[in-house]
Amino acid sequence: MTYLQGGDGLKRREFLATAGLAAAGLAACSKPAAEPKPQAPGAAARKTYEWKMATSWPPGFPVFQTGMEQFAARVKEMSGGRLSIRVYAGGELIPPLEVFDAISAGTVEMGHSASYYWAGKAPELQLFTTSPFGLTAQQFNAWFYHGGGLELMHEMYKPYNIITFPSCNTGVQMGGWFNRKIERIEDFNGLKMRIPGLGGRVVAKAGVNVVLMAAGELYTALERGTIDALEWVGPYHDLKLGFYRAAKYYYYPGWHEPGTMLELMVNLKAWESLPKDLQMIVEAAAAQSNLLGLAEFDAKNGEALNELVNTYKAQVLKFPDEVLKTLHGYAREVLEEEAAKSPGQRKVYDAFRAFAGRVEPWTRMSERAFMEAKGL
Ligand code: CA
Repeated sequence: MTYLQGGDGLKRREFLATAGLAAAGLAACSKPAAEPKPQAPGAAARKTYEWKMATSWPPGFPVFQTGMEQFAARVKEMSGGRLSIRVYAGGELIPPLEVFDAISAGTVEMGHSASYYWAGKAPELQLFTTSPFGLTAQQFNAWFYHGGGLELMHEMYKPYNIITFPSCNTGVQMGGWFNRKIERIEDFNGLKMRIPGLGGRVVAKAGVNVVLMAAGELYTALERGTIDALEWVGPYHDLKLGFYRAAKYYYYPGWHEPGTMLELMVNLKAWESLPKDLQMIVEAAAAQSNLLGLAEFDAKNGEALNELVNTYKAQVLKFPDEVLKTLHGYAREVLEEEAAKSPGQRKVYDAFRAFAGRVEPWTRMSERAFMEAKGL
């Protein structure tokens, strides 16, 4: 279905198509050459589309929002101006967390957000964003592009009249900012922490009082002690919000969000109204955003981490192994509890887990063994 798929099936189809063309060529040689007919451009090729995209991000939010502005510019350029997308930040046109409904209803044609925001209304979609102790960005891409993940995501979104494509990944996030050290699992007990989604469900098992609040309130809440800890994204975004001034300890790794994938969302009817070449341009530009977003995160997180450690003297600490092991056990329980709630959740979880089982032995022998050999 997509140019992103390869494998033997494609080779066979290419071969058959080539063989077919060769046969057609031979047949043509045996007949007098016909006058080529002038190709009148079809109505679909002349039609221009002016679409709107609503995102869940603040205006100018680095990588997320800026990445989609670059996406829209590329689509316009690649389509010779036939598809023009105006990008609106969260709240400019649609409230950040109402993007799903707006796209489903066709109020806007496109959106950019994360499926775990819709866990309340469509919990079967949340694992397409990330899951505690789940897949890394590289493994996630393997699932989406070559492991059936993209097809499954399309299937699960279809009842909502939406089609989505991977279009950014944060990579492994940080574990968060804490105003006290975490040396044992018991240190989570009674902690007031902002940590949304399944990660929040996991730490709740360790006694954390999970608090939900908007991005704009986070710094003040941490500084005033309304919360004791928070997780946000990674060094680049966390440095911008100045959390190092409000909490002493910066923990890693972000076990709860090991490769958070953001989605380009398209109203399904609007998608089907696009000619094939524009669909392929959108799909290609989304895949490009997926790659460029991760690259930007990796490059800028490295710089920001240096600044946090060397300029602002943040104390960067790794969660103790025993703590991670206990959280991993809780994560399995939470994922099983979720999967038991509906056939859709079971289906996605089983597919996700089966792919993890296939990809992880290779990761162990490739990325992990190499990093260890390098001393990382
Ligand atoms: Ca996060």
